[in-house]
Amino acid sequence: MIRLLRELERRLEAAGLPRGEALDLLALAAGLSRKALLLSLPQPPPPGTETRVQDLLKKRLSGYPLQYLLGEVEFFGLPLKVAEGVLIPRPETEGLVELALSLPLPQRPRILDVGTGTGAIALALKRHLPEAEVHATEVDKKALALAQENARRLGLSIRFLEAPLTGGMGDLDLIVANPPYLPEAYREAAPKELAFENPLALYAGPEGLSVARPLAKEAREALGPGGFLLLEMAPENARLLAEELKALGFQEVEALRDLAGRERYLRARRPS
Ligand code: GLN
Repeated sequence: MIRLLRELERRLEAAGLPRGEALDLLALAAGLSRKALLLSLPQPPPPGTETRVQDLLKKRLSGYPLQYLLGEVEFFGLPLKVAEGVLIPRPETEGLVELALSLPLPQRPRILDVGTGTGAIALALKRHLPEAEVHATEVDKKALALAQENARRLGLSIRFLEAPLTGGMGDLDLIVANPPYLPEAYREAAPKELAFENPLALYAGPEGLSVARPLAKEAREALGPGGFLLLEMAPENARLLAEELKALGFQEVEALRDLAGRERYLRARRPS
């Protein structure tokens, strides 16, 4: 199988993709875990592996995301199932979870993850704040079912609600969200992998604010006194959205940077 692995690495690299993906694709084609594959590399591939490798590679080279092929992604140390139609959790969103964990929250905080997708944010927070009451809203039925399955698999208890935005909840200590935030016009220039993801999870009107704006308004009412709003957003919108939050009466409004140094998150607080 070493020959197959090398060929895969070569072809991925030639297409500008990470050669490390070769191991994942070969393991998938051979029906083995990565570890089992490494141990059996000196042996010939199981029957059918070559054909499956070629099919997988073709799909991957068309831009189809590796995570959808594998059906799983690691987020904040948690193995999460992913599936077509549901946004693949991103490393930037791990930064959002870190910020949430750094907030001065009460002992048993009431937390809401808006538009939970795979459940990534809600699940990571519940794992690290076991005392918290974690709620999650989602409008997409497929995403909601997947998030529920992820919660079950991980043995984490989240209260899911099929509803838009805050779902009419109140008295929250933290509202956190990675809403769709790309401006519609970005679709033309987007990397080809994005075309395989659900546009409803990515794009938010001409300015990229068609979800964040109504969410901020609702959050003002849904938070308890001193409660926090924490949003992921397009760095281009940091200034504007920060001003809008201040105009809504939020205090301690601050834009925070991601690992690439871009203003990717907004933190704000309802006055107590
Ligand atoms: N909350 C989910 C995530 O961050 C889904 C976000 C979305 O669909 N925009 O992965």
